[in-house]
Amino acid sequence: MTKERMYKYLFGPIPSRRLGMSLGVDLVPKKVCTIDCVYCEVGRTTQLSVQPKDYIAADKIKEELNHYLKHNQAPDYVTITASGEPSLNANLEEIIAFVKQNEANIPVCVITNGTLLNDKKVREALSKSDLVLPSLDAATEKVFRMINRPHKEINFEAYLQGLIDFSAEFKGDIWLEVFILPGYNDHKEELLALREIIQKINPDIVQLNTLDRPGTIDNLRGATQDELQKIMDLWQLDNVRIIAKAKQSNKTIFRSDTKTAIKETISRRPCTLEDLVSILGLCEEEIDRCLASLAFVKGFEKVEQERGVFYQIREQ
Ligand code: SF4
Repeated sequence: MTKERMYKYLFGPIPSRRLGMSLGVDLVPKKVCTIDCVYCEVGRTTQLSVQPKDYIAADKIKEELNHYLKHNQAPDYVTITASGEPSLNANLEEIIAFVKQNEANIPVCVITNGTLLNDKKVREALSKSDLVLPSLDAATEKVFRMINRPHKEINFEAYLQGLIDFSAEFKGDIWLEVFILPGYNDHKEELLALREIIQKINPDIVQLNTLDRPGTIDNLRGATQDELQKIMDLWQLDNVRIIAKAKQSNKTIFRSDTKTAIKETISRRPCTLEDLVSILGLCEEEIDRCLASLAFVKGFEKVEQERGVFYQIREQ
């Protein structure tokens, strides 16, 4: 069991929609990213950058990973992600290699927006992982700019080419995530153009995702199951999946330090009570009690949304 320790760069393990019980590793601080997606659940990008740097020293992350893996049951995946874009951390390759050397049986997954895949060094670093989940939300530069609001040095064509090149070189699996945002990228022309690019990338799986938490601007809504199904019908591709409920894991590795675990989780992204019950595997009453005691923590907020009340701790 975990000692009462609040990790700075690790979170979870959480029952990921896609990966089962996944231990998250955060490689850049909130919020450094190459783009500034309108739907981002982490919040607005405060440092828009395309320059890989030593954002968090590899040794600090390795120390936490070492501690976690020594005191807890192995997760289904180690998932490298970030409160922003993980490939902006110049130590990405070293961190992946560290997990593989120490826990060869735990697959490593990297969640990236893919905008730096045209850089050979980034492709090389990612090639050490087992699974890469890049994103593609637009087939045209206009829609890319509307949804993803990129850094001015990101060239849309180079981004697409990076995805195509990486997919051709990579030996592991690629699950391409397409985030559908009604009113932005769900018109027929864009969807048909997206289908063409998806075929060029040729990923193992295409995951259709949509909004289920507050985004960074008002008046966004998630696509309904019916709308997502219509997109699948239009595309007629046999590797497309709608991301549904969290995949169930047969592992029960819930954290014992509830209050710390809740604090870590809602500092990263807003969650409803129901989300926290599913993440932590505890009863509503206990989570409710902890949330009540966190109400006095600086930055604690409750936000009413269509899916319910979301709890979050904003950075001050
Ligand atoms: S790429 Fe991810 S972290 Fe960056 S703005 Fe988009 S959703 Fe947020």
